[in-house]
Amino acid sequence: MLSRNVPPPIRARRYSSSPAKRSLPSLISRRVKPVVPRRFAAARSASEDDVLTADVVIVGAGIVGLFTAMELLRNQLSVLLLERKGLCAGATGAGQGYLWMAHRSPGTVGWALAARSVALWRRIVQQDDDLRATIEWQACGSLLVSNGEGESASLSERQYALNSVGLKASYLDPRRLAELEPGLVPPRGGAGLLVQSDLQINGRAAAHALLQRCRANPGFGDLMGPEGEVVGLELAAGPGGSHVIRTAGRRIHARHALVLSAGVWTGDLLSAATGTPAWSHLLQPRRGHLLEMPRPEGMPPVTHGIMEVSYTKHYTAASTPPPPPSAAATAASSSAEPADITFTATTSANGNLLIGSSRESNVWDTDPSPAIIAAILQRAATFLPGLRSCADSAAAAAAAAAATGGNSYSDAVAGLVVRVGLRPYAAGGLPLVGPVVGSPGLFVAAGHEGSGLCMGPGTGELLVRYIRTHMGASGQDTRSFDDLLPDARLRASLV
Ligand SMILES: Cc1cc2nc3c(=O)[nH]c(=O)nc-3n(C[C@H](O)[C@H](O)[C@H](O)COP(=O)(O)OP(=O)(O)OC[C@H]3O[C@@H](n4cnc5c(N)ncnc54)[C@H](O)[C@@H]3O)c2cc1C
Repeated sequence: MLSRNVPPPIRARRYSSSPAKRSLPSLISRRVKPVVPRRFAAARSASEDDVLTADVVIVGAGIVGLFTAMELLRNQLSVLLLERKGLCAGATGAGQGYLWMAHRSPGTVGWALAARSVALWRRIVQQDDDLRATIEWQACGSLLVSNGEGESASLSERQYALNSVGLKASYLDPRRLAELEPGLVPPRGGAGLLVQSDLQINGRAAAHALLQRCRANPGFGDLMGPEGEVVGLELAAGPGGSHVIRTAGRRIHARHALVLSAGVWTGDLLSAATGTPAWSHLLQPRRGHLLEMPRPEGMPPVTHGIMEVSYTKHYTAASTPPPPPSAAATAASSSAEPADITFTATTSANGNLLIGSSRESNVWDTDPSPAIIAAILQRAATFLPGLRSCADSAAAAAAAAAATGGNSYSDAVAGLVVRVGLRPYAAGGLPLVGPVVGSPGLFVAAGHEGSGLCMGPGTGELLVRYIRTHMGASGQDTRSFDDLLPDARLRASLV
């Protein structure tokens, strides 16, 4: 049973880009025959109406599942992608879109995966101009900003660390920072660190574009909505057998590999598949809110991706217990721990501001919280004074909602859109990428917390190396990423 964190079934909904309605039999017959005969086929049996078979079955159409699908197709393997809701139903739909190195720690495995991924992102958009435009690729650079002198010293240390591995980072004193971003006034004369090579994309647009490219490949099929919800997994008894994936009304066979890339819900799927409950505890949500709103009149534009430097604690903590909430953690929260609020801001391609962000441990509810919205804007206004009146009206809206016991935020700020997503946090702060020991043909790619959009391409590449090794290919070097192996992550979390 996959019950604990699986929301109740939703109304039938399919991915809505063209073709609007896709019947499965026609999808299969249209896609399989011309290019890859017999690799991905619908087989009929007396007992089951629809039995589907693919080389690899992927559960979860977030950014990680999509990049894995792309890489498998590139390696001539057929793919069936299963998604119980629709694109961007998980964390991918809420991501701010930073493809950044500035806030990571050189020399760590997280750095290596991010660096490889950014290189792959660059290659992908170099080869595909349409994709570059569709995903709103912005070479806007990143700015880490400090909150007073103590933090400014940490910016200098970071500048040194980044420069020493060849990533150009420039320290900006308050005067130079003000010249670069006139609307930014960090508290207590804080300084900045500029990494001009950092990038930004629109994560939702990227997910849609990747799915479209997968669908253009005859070796690909997908089931979106309730018919794509995995409700049971039967693992093969031994090497060489195929795994069986059960959805409502269908049995699906994964000929070579089953990939679980279901974000924070991966833990429960793994527990159900392997009978090991610890997997469920290994992956937990860190709920995040992201605000999209028009730039207030008179406020100077935000031209870089910006983040307060204390945000880096979420990345230096890899392989250590989760850090305590920061001094900035002020907001009311529905979880037992207070929410962690750390300032981020950028401008999307349509000119709107994207303001973040919050982290709440172990909160599964994805309804926007007026208190968190107000706390994010309050924090942002301490760096961007042009947001002060928006922050005050959001605080008033949150107080009104608290007084009535409601959760409306519609009066907070004109034109405000709120995205809420569950960052898949794996204990220790690193993702799980690789095979599951004792279950040949079962693979995991999950737990990217606040970095999945950035790390998607490298994750897909790495996972496919493991799958190819499992299928008998040689020379698939994965050693530098051993710390990400699911069993290594599980062991580390139990220490
Ligand atoms: C506010 C916020 C800001 C962020 N900003 C950034 C950023 O700037 N840069 C960055 O790199 N990352 C960022 N992230 C993190 C990033 O969004 C995530 O790391 C990433 O989206 C995770 O992708 P995923 O594919 O692993 O999971 P998800 O996107 O959660 O996808 C998992 C999918 O699996 C499906 N699923 C679950 N169970 C089943 C089942 N039983 N059957 C079928 N399907 C199932 C779900 O419906 C879901 O669609 C941010 C996240 C948040 C919340």
